[in-house]
Amino acid sequence: MNQKERYQFLVHYFTANHPVAETELRYQNPFQLLVAVVLSAQCTDKRVNIVTQSLFEKFPDPKALAATTFDELFPYIQSISYPNNKTRHLLGLGKMLVEIYNCEIPETVDELQKLPGVGRKTANVIASVIYNQPTMAVDTHVFRVSRRIGLVDQKAKTPLAVELQLYQFLPKEIIPKAHHWLILHGRYVCIARKPKCLECGLQPCCQFFQTGSQMLDEN
Ligand code: SF4
Repeated sequence: MNQKERYQFLVHYFTANHPVAETELRYQNPFQLLVAVVLSAQCTDKRVNIVTQSLFEKFPDPKALAATTFDELFPYIQSISYPNNKTRHLLGLGKMLVEIYNCEIPETVDELQKLPGVGRKTANVIASVIYNQPTMAVDTHVFRVSRRIGLVDQKAKTPLAVELQLYQFLPKEIIPKAHHWLILHGRYVCIARKPKCLECGLQPCCQFFQTGSQMLDEN
């Protein structure tokens, strides 16, 4: 199977079997998604969803975040990873959204990355989920699954390299959905320690399965 056929198989498989693929973070507006994605770095979506219930009640918009203090905000997120840094990021985020962006969430990846706590991955998630732009956020799942299947070559050893290679073959209109396909597949089927190959519908297009090669994970 050549690269074009591999991508065609994957898109066809997910379109047929997982037509609905969405983030598992709970949110009701762009501001809430931005906060949730910032909090989700090195943390599970499940934990973030627990924390954001009360957080969004107390701080429903950028103005509320901008007006609070470290000591007031910290208790709401202390149960997730890196709470000190994330508290500082959210305080900075609220202020910047109020002072520079008139409480709107910026649309471009470049503008989004100017916000505290927002790196390329987070910016790509927001641009994709909120604004339906063809941006691919490469987290640990997308990185691993793309390499295992052979969507990218084994020289792609950084998230940015994987992101750029995925753009070469994925149709633009599919990219926002493909991001969720790959994350969810990595979370529930192609899991890090022991991929569930025997129950995976991607076997025919997967290099890892076809070659039985653990090398793909190790390189
Ligand atoms: S066949 Fe195995 S390695 Fe390949 S995508 Fe499926 S679970 Fe992952």
